[in-house]
Amino acid sequence: MKKRVLAGIRATGRLHLGNYLGAVKGMLQLQDDPQYETLYMVADAHTITTPFDVNELRKNRREVIIDYLAAGLDPDKSIIFQQSQVSEHFELAYYFSSVTTIARMQHLPTFKDKVKQYPHHTTMALLNYPVLMAADILVYKAGLVPAGLDQEPHLEVSREVARKMNQQYGMDFPEPVRLTTKGDYIPSLTGEGKMSKSVQGSYINLTDSVETIRKKIRSIPTATTAGGEMNPGVKSLFTFAELFIPNNVEQYKKEFSNGTLQFVTVKDAVAGAIYKQLEPLQLKRQQIEKDQAYVDKVIKEGAEKARTIASQTLKEVKEKMGLS
Ligand code: ADP
Repeated sequence: MKKRVLAGIRATGRLHLGNYLGAVKGMLQLQDDPQYETLYMVADAHTITTPFDVNELRKNRREVIIDYLAAGLDPDKSIIFQQSQVSEHFELAYYFSSVTTIARMQHLPTFKDKVKQYPHHTTMALLNYPVLMAADILVYKAGLVPAGLDQEPHLEVSREVARKMNQQYGMDFPEPVRLTTKGDYIPSLTGEGKMSKSVQGSYINLTDSVETIRKKIRSIPTATTAGGEMNPGVKSLFTFAELFIPNNVEQYKKEFSNGTLQFVTVKDAVAGAIYKQLEPLQLKRQQIEKDQAYVDKVIKEGAEKARTIASQTLKEVKEKMGLS
């Protein structure tokens, strides 16, 4: 039997470079590997764990699917679907919540960060996010998850849930691991933290024009005493250089050390290289946008295929837990 893979991206906006390098590139790599059966969702139900706008959610959910298709996810090779259309995820999350303590969830760094960000929106859904994520993965018995470094604490929870379900109820869930990639932590353009859809000024969208990319990369704060310590902005710029123009890095580092580096030269070279990678995706996106019926078909068929697998797992869990 093929090993299963599950990955998802929240419907909080269009995809950015961090999502692409940290998650989508790994998703593409595995969809072309015949060892794996790949399931890729837009995690729209995870979007409601923080304040959201109904119309934006609807719009963004579709944008994520279109970005997936533009990036090369292929419905003939992968099951591409919308999380909320497969209700088995939510039922399984409820069962999983019975083997998860509140204290464990409250101590997660990701939960603490969100509480700080939205102090008046500390909901049960937010607390339950990692449990739903465990259900997203384990409802397909997936053992491999292409995701960024920020998801590691959540994957640890998924492994704990799998272990407990196996020990207490005799299930055969795998303990899912993250597929690591070179770009699994893309820094914010502000020089602080990671690139994220929810932090303004931090990201480059896959659909940004070359001018926008150049402007955004030029905005990375690199003012520094030449030859001194690299400040966070300079470090970020070097991360981008290593990912997009690796052959130039050694020379740039030398120039940085002897104080002759022109940051604008590095920035413009990085921006050009990023756009070169994104241009084919943008052209493909324009084609897909013209064929909305195709997008509808992908979403509908994806949900049907996902449900077929998910309902099997649910049946098994209910039997083992004495609920059927
Ligand atoms: P965001 O934080 O932008 O809202 P999501 O939480 O929807 O993104 O994450 C979707 C996927 O993209 C996850 O696998 C996540 O780990 C990955 N990801 C998000 N931001 C980054 C980043 N800056 N670098 C690498 N991977 C990232």
